[in-house]
Formats: sequence, C-alpha cells, structure tokens
Amino acid sequence: MAMDNGTMEVRDVVIVGAGAAGSWAAWRAAGEGVEDVLLLEKTPRLGTKILASGGTRCNLTTTLGPDEAADLFGTSGGRFLRRAFRILPPQKLREYFHELGVPTLAAPLEKVFPQSGQAKDVRDALLNAVHMTGVEMRLDTQVVSIVPVTDASHSWRVELAGGGTIGVKRLVLATGGQSYAGTGTTGDGYPWLRKLGLGFVEPAPALAPIKSDEKWVHELSGNSLQDVELRLVNAKGKELGRRRRPLLFTHAGVSGPGAMDLSGIIARTKQDGGAAKIAGWCLRADLLPDVSREELREVLIAVAALPGAPLLVKGIPIVLAQRFPLLELPSKRILHEVFAEAGLSARSGHQALTKSARHDLIEAFKGLQIPVSGTLGYDKAEVTSGGLALRAVDPGTCRVRGQEELWVIGELLDVDGPIGGLNFQSAFATGEACALDLAQSSST
Ligand SMILES: Cc1cc2nc3c(=O)[nH]c(=O)nc-3n(C[C@H](O)[C@H](O)[C@H](O)COP(=O)(O)OP(=O)(O)OC[C@H]3O[C@@H](n4cnc5c(N)ncnc54)[C@H](O)[C@@H]3O)c2cc1C
Repeated sequence: MAMDNGTMEVRDVVIVGAGAAGSWAAWRAAGEGVEDVLLLEKTPRLGTKILASGGTRCNLTTTLGPDEAADLFGTSGGRFLRRAFRILPPQKLREYFHELGVPTLAAPLEKVFPQSGQAKDVRDALLNAVHMTGVEMRLDTQVVSIVPVTDASHSWRVELAGGGTIGVKRLVLATGGQSYAGTGTTGDGYPWLRKLGLGFVEPAPALAPIKSDEKWVHELSGNSLQDVELRLVNAKGKELGRRRRPLLFTHAGVSGPGAMDLSGIIARTKQDGGAAKIAGWCLRADLLPDVSREELREVLIAVAALPGAPLLVKGIPIVLAQRFPLLELPSKRILHEVFAEAGLSARSGHQALTKSARHDLIEAFKGLQIPVSGTLGYDKAEVTSGGLALRAVDPGTCRVRGQEELWVIGELLDVDGPIGGLNFQSAFATGEACALDLAQSSST
C-alpha cells in the first residue's frame, strides 16, 4: 500500500462490490499476477446474492454454448456479451468451479447447479479464492462517491461512508443493480455513472412475477404447469415476446420462469409510459405446446365417441392421456378456466361442442388469455435492466471508453438475461474479461 503525500492510502486496483462479478474479477486478477487488489463491500459478507440465488441452489451458469447463451440477452446485449462469453465460456466457468472444489451438474432447461445443491458452496469457493490469491477484502465498507483526479499518482479518489478516502490507480465498479435491496444492491453505482456523463439506460426491474387484476387468475394460485408457451401481446395483438418455460399461478398473478422472463418488457413500458401504455396487454398461454390445433380437433371429436359420454372436463383428459401419454395435463381448476374462455362450463357435455365451440375451445387451450397489469417490481425482481450503456464500454475488456483507468462489470452494465444461470454467467464473464485486462495492463 502506498501513501499520497504521506496521508492518503493509494492502491493499484480497487474493485467496488464483492458480488459475483467483483469477487470473480478480484481473484482472477490476483491469480493472473496483479499484486495489489483491494475489494470493497458494503455489506458484512461477500456474495450475498449468490447465497439467495436459485432457491439457495445457485444456478451458476448454463449448458448452452457461449454464442447461444449471449444471444439470449437480446440484440445489443448479445452482441456485447459474445466477447466476454468467448473469453469465459460456460463450460470453462464450470471447470474453474470444479478446480475450486465445486463440481457442477447439468439440470433440465439448460441449467447448471453445484453438485451439492448448495449456493453456499459457490459463495465459499469464491471467498476462499479471494483469500488464497492475496486479495485484500474490506467488508462493511461503503463507497459513497468516485471522483476522477488529474495530476496525481492515481486516477480516481474513492470516498467512503464515514469519511475515509482511497486514491486508486485502476478502478473497477461492480455494484450490481437495484433489485432485492436487502442484499446490498441499492443502485449506488448509477449516480456515479450519470455524473461522469456516460451513456446511461434508466433502470427497470426485470425477472419479476407479473401482476394480473383478474380474480380467476388469483383463484388459481398454487396451480402450475411445467411446459407452457407464453406469448406477451399488446392491445392490438402484436407479439412482444415469447418464452416456453414453466408457469405458476399466484395470489397476485403469474410467476415461474416463463412469466418472469417476459416481465421486463411490461415493467419498462409501464415505467416509461404509465399504466395506459400497457392497457389491454395480456399473456397468451399455450397450455399444450406439443399438441397441434389439428391434433386437438381430433381429440375433441374423439371425446364424443367415448363410452358413457362423460362431461368434457373428464373426457378431454382421457383422450389426451390416451394419445399423448407423456403429456402433463392441466389441472381440473385450470381446465375450468379454459372452458370458461370458450363459453363452455364445467357441466358441458360433448353435445355442446358445435363447430364454433370446438374452434373456441382449441383457441383457449392454445392461447388462454391472462390479462396483465404490471409486475411486482424491484422487491421481487431477480435483476435490474438498464445501467451503463454498452456503447460506452469495450466488450473485450469491460474498460470504459474515454475514461482513465475505469472498468464496469456485471449487472451495473445494461445487460439482463432470462432465468437459467445466464445472469451469473454474464457477471462472471465480464469479471473475467476485466481481470485479464488488468493483468495485461499490469505487465506492460
Ligand atoms: C433472489 C435472486 C435469485 C437469483 N438467482 C439467480 C440464479 O440462480 N442464476 C443466475 O444466473 N442469476 C440469479 N440471480 C441474479 C444474480 O444474482 C445477479 O445477476 C448477479 O448477482 C449480478 O452480479 P453482480 O456482481 O453484478 O451484482 P451483485 O451480485 O448484486 O453484487 C453487487 C455487490 O456490490 C455491493 N455494493 C453495492 N453498492 C456498494 C457500495 N456503494 N459500496 C460497496 N459495495 C457495494 C453489494 O452489496 C453487492 O454485494 C438471482 C437474483 C436474485 C435477487
């Protein structure tokens, strides 16, 4: 540690935020030979969000290849992250964790978890790696502002809550977003970036449960389906997003990966334009994505020939199960709503299936309408969309263009991906790109 004029502490590399991105950048930079790395964290522990992640199992990356994974971040996010994901592909990330004593295993929907099923193992491995590589970590240390300095032995002055100041030669910001504020992420980095006049995309909550004001939706609370294709459509019927993932009905609306993946579009539009902007929006849920309309039509015709002429609510599951034995059938409660949407009732028999009723029932199965009115916001959002505009950052190093010795990594960047280990992949990979650049610039 050096002192400036004998008074101020001056450090080579300071990383602000010991979450996924900051911890990864710290241990990898130190592991690659950067000698003086100081990691500052405002909460009492490293990796608080890692501990809470994936239902405390931590879905730490994906089985997808680097380009496929990056493409899930949308056009600009995908283009940007391709570089970092090629530097640290998901498979290589798994190998690193294996070396750190955390073997991983693949799970359905391209997810990857620690073999132990414990998020704590991922967090502890990073904590050990940080210690083993000689990184100095200061917990309970909140940065309150960053100030560029000129004509000095350092490029930045970092001011701490309580009055301390550190001179920094190379500064890495990894303060995350502003969702789940209890984990330490309260959007602290945003005013710093705005003040520097860097391109900035206003934050909005993403990966949150979706609200619906419909009573029937609330009444289905607890019902779920593992394989639903959800389409988010506006009042004119235009499709705004599509995702095939599990769906869960809740007392407030719908949740589960499919709904949460689409929630960011709703939150951002409502935030930018007010509630009127999302009036008439709904999710259209295809409850039987592997059954075509024609196959469903044949199922409905076959119901009429069943012995004993059971009610539709009994007959349809019988024929579906005969023809598609592996299919997960909607619960009776969900079926009632499908019937209601088609103008039928739980008591309807096959005589009710006129040609037009059959058409309406097929459409209800293939696109049950769930009106939406917003999302549960930052309190329940797994990530924050928005942040430092990607054009301000070099994608191969995460170095901020036009700024002396400044890097921004992780969720503080304007990147957010769907559920499935992609957001950790993004945090770790941008951390890696930054770490290698720090090592490279140390040696030149
Ligand atoms: C409940 C939940 C479950 C999740 N599950 C998954 C999952 O299974 N898979 C997945 O890929 N993603 C998951 N995510 C998303 C993932 O956790 C984040 O995308 C990821 O942690 C972002 O990493 P980061 O390092 O950029 O930010 P964070 O991990 O949020 O870390 C930022 C750190 O900076 C610190 N900090 C903030 N301001 C300051 C300051 N002023 N001074 C000092 N320190 C500061 C914070 O305390 C925090 O420790 C989940 C998120 C939540 C909330």
